[in-house]
Amino acid sequence: MIEKEFIDILSKENVDIKLDEEMKSHTSFRIGGKADCFCSVKDVGSLRNVIMLCREKNVPYFILGLGSNILVSDKGIDGLVIKLEGEFNEITLAEDNIVRCGAGSTLARLCNFARNMSLGGLEFAWGIPGSVGGAIYMNAGAYDGEIKDVAFSVDYMDKDGSIKRVRDAELDFGYRHSFFTDTDNIILRASFRLIPRSQDTITEKMQELMDRRKTKQPINHPSAGSVFKRPETGYAAALIEECGLKGYEYGGAQVSPKHAGFIVNDNGASAQDVLGLIDHIKKEVKEKKNVELCCEVRFIGRV
Ligand SMILES: Cc1cc2nc3c(=O)[nH]c(=O)nc-3n(C[C@H](O)[C@H](O)[C@H](O)COP(=O)(O)OP(=O)(O)OC[C@H]3O[C@@H](n4cnc5c(N)ncnc54)[C@H](O)[C@@H]3O)c2cc1C
Repeated sequence: MIEKEFIDILSKENVDIKLDEEMKSHTSFRIGGKADCFCSVKDVGSLRNVIMLCREKNVPYFILGLGSNILVSDKGIDGLVIKLEGEFNEITLAEDNIVRCGAGSTLARLCNFARNMSLGGLEFAWGIPGSVGGAIYMNAGAYDGEIKDVAFSVDYMDKDGSIKRVRDAELDFGYRHSFFTDTDNIILRASFRLIPRSQDTITEKMQELMDRRKTKQPINHPSAGSVFKRPETGYAAALIEECGLKGYEYGGAQVSPKHAGFIVNDNGASAQDVLGLIDHIKKEVKEKKNVELCCEVRFIGRV
């Protein structure tokens, strides 16, 4: 429950505010209850004031990217959901072969910008439906590339509102992990070191990877991509398929008949349905294959 005084102070910032916002409109799963308050923040100064206000008034906040790697609780989210817009969408060619991009931009815009500048290196990211902030946070990757191969410097705001920079090895990139994982730090913008390449070559690679996605993944169905991290042995999708779970349904949630690593919401699934299906998959894979699956998708909100 958010007090009126909090909303009154918040409204003075460079923000758009929505109360009781349905989170299913902001997640690729099309699942999620209401957030007490949803706020699009347009500039760094406002972001700092919003964070400070939340801390002063003890209001929890969550930074949302494009919602393509989260499962939001049916009971919604306490406090404030913050989305980075306005200046956080800016992309610039900083110096030769280096592109700086705001955390709120989609990866798709960044990929297109790089191609227009005849800069390669981001082709792998074409088709990952996230924001630049979410991609840095998760060290998103696909096929032959990962964010860690191209991102070398990230500006962020810490929980006290100070702006800091992490570079190179300090970014601590690992498999679906970065310096930012499970911290309160807010990614503001990132710099990418790219390689001169012809636009035709870049387009060809992007098209090839998109075609592979379309063939293998249920990209036209609501999902959050691969639900589980790659285990130490084998692939989650193969293990799930070998357990006979392809197409298995639990409430409105289903193990995708096209790619067993994906759970799709084809029939008005609730977050509880997805969690129930995740539990079932984990139990079966443990029993039949003796492998412990870990979730890549993050559960957000009230338990
Ligand atoms: C069809 C489909 C295909 C996919 N394919 C791939 C794939 O090939 N490879 C891959 O790696 N992933 C894939 N994903 C998963 C997802 O797109 C990526 O993990 C993506 O990087 C998440 O970005 P997002 O902006 O949607 O983050 P969100 O889901 O909004 O958030 C994820 C986490 O990042 C944090 N976060 C977001 N922005 C910021 C910020 N500015 N500062 C601090 N924290 C932040 C959030 O708080 C949250 O904890 C796929 C998903 C779908 C639906």
